[in-house]
Amino acid sequence: MKFDAVILGSGLGGLECGFILSKCGMNVCVLEKNAALGGCLQSFRRGKDEFDTGFHYVGALGKGQILEKIFSHLGLMDLPWHQLDTDGFDQVFFKDKSYLQANGYERFADQLSASFPRCRERLKSYSSFLEKVGKGIAKPILEDKEGFYTFNSLFEQSAYKYLSDTLRNKLLTDIVSASSLKLELCSESLPLYTFAQINSSFIQSAWKLKGRGSLIADTLAEGIRKMGGTVLSRAEVVSLEEKDGRICGATILHNGSSEKIEGNLFVSGLSPQLTLELLKDSPNIRPIFRRRINSLEQTCGFFTVNLKLKEGRIPYLNRNIYYYSPETDSVWDIALNTEKKPVCGILISQQVPQSGSFATQMDILTPMSFSEVSRWKDTIPNHRGEEYRAFKAKKAEECIALAQNCFPNLSDAVEACYTSTPLTYLNYTGAVKGTAYGIRKDFKDPTRTLLTPKTPFQNLFFTGQNLNLHGILGVSLTSLLTCSEILGKETVVPFLE
Ligand SMILES: Cc1cc2nc3c(=O)[nH]c(=O)nc-3n(C[C@H](O)[C@H](O)[C@H](O)COP(=O)(O)OP(=O)(O)OC[C@H]3O[C@@H](n4cnc5c(N)ncnc54)[C@H](O)[C@@H]3O)c2cc1C
Repeated sequence: MKFDAVILGSGLGGLECGFILSKCGMNVCVLEKNAALGGCLQSFRRGKDEFDTGFHYVGALGKGQILEKIFSHLGLMDLPWHQLDTDGFDQVFFKDKSYLQANGYERFADQLSASFPRCRERLKSYSSFLEKVGKGIAKPILEDKEGFYTFNSLFEQSAYKYLSDTLRNKLLTDIVSASSLKLELCSESLPLYTFAQINSSFIQSAWKLKGRGSLIADTLAEGIRKMGGTVLSRAEVVSLEEKDGRICGATILHNGSSEKIEGNLFVSGLSPQLTLELLKDSPNIRPIFRRRINSLEQTCGFFTVNLKLKEGRIPYLNRNIYYYSPETDSVWDIALNTEKKPVCGILISQQVPQSGSFATQMDILTPMSFSEVSRWKDTIPNHRGEEYRAFKAKKAEECIALAQNCFPNLSDAVEACYTSTPLTYLNYTGAVKGTAYGIRKDFKDPTRTLLTPKTPFQNLFFTGQNLNLHGILGVSLTSLLTCSEILGKETVVPFLE
């Protein structure tokens, strides 16, 4: 079988690239190792219930906002999107006080100014800055062929230093950062670009799906198939073959048997480390490039508690909650070395109920370092032993105990509880060390930690969260960047209009 484009992995990045290249007339084949499509977007079923994994909410999906424009072209705007409360899409509990974060740059600043009246002007300049950064999000694709990496100076600035210098109030710095478990708040490395773009998108508008997150993956796959493309699940790429300095084929294990898929160009939505492993003995990859890729650090993983709730017990709140234990000194760096501390910060996200005003499911997430689970890394899922089960049960208890501070009847309302760790992600998506957000970008070393879609092979491209920005919005922009590298920016500009 020979295709115009072969896509490795059916995560959001792989599927979006597959969709865009199909729409541009290419005969595409997407290869996914798992039975379920979507990578971090896949949902899992327990009895009649479906739970989400790496999708809880997205920003910038309002009319005319950037993700709405991209998703319209990808056929994703007909999904059952549900907007979160515009007066408080996120609620932060820090040092026993609660703060609501509102949509709209001015309203966001005004609302927090009520708690920090002396910081009103500083908050205004912070939110105007986010607005300006957000407006420029598509600029690299629209204007600069060389991409973000070289020209965006915000990648070279520290997010933590910017916030400390601009807000000049430690508590306020914590409050505007506290809803950022959707990125890794590492004060020593987090670039201002990452912090500003992601927070800016949610201040524009915040949305959940009224249904499972895997609807996104299923819709993209259906779109690719309708345009004549092929999407294969249970098709693990085990090696890439090269000829005359180009990639010419992928060997896959498809439903257990070995097959060869040929193509003119290849896009990898796998992490760059995994991609290079598929080219183990390639003379075209210089050792220095391999060393660079393999030395890159990963952002933290997550421990997730998926709760099925008894009917009519917990009211549905149309917002996400970030709760920190009263002893938490700062929301920054809590994701580092989690093995050395108790759970102190959690994100609580309820699934939008299909009907009625009570929640039927609640997810509680807390950052988790890989070192907490590394001793079980050579065990097989579902057979990791009693010690692992006990470790997860204790963590789940800690998470639920913290969440009880927001929902006092929670323990009694739990009908069933399922958990996952960074090992789960390592096993299912191949995420290096179970990372949630891919490679840790470092403002001190942007040229080393920021990768472009280009690889040592002219017809092999990277895509996905390991490049410029993670999350649904970040990966969507990266997909356009990768396709722009392949087809030229004129072809992808319409996806931004
Ligand atoms: C717990 C958690 C919560 C999150 N919550 C949110 C959120 O609320 N909002 C948000 O915007 N973002 C969220 N994210 C981030 C978001 O899910 C990711 O940034 C995004 O989905 C990553 O997509 P990707 O395509 O880069 O990678 P992935 O989803 O990791 O896709 C890689 C794919 O490649 C496949 N693969 C690997 N090896 C092979 C092989 N050899 N052959 C074939 N296929 C292979 C994998 O199975 C997988 O399907 C969350 C992430 C996590 C982990």
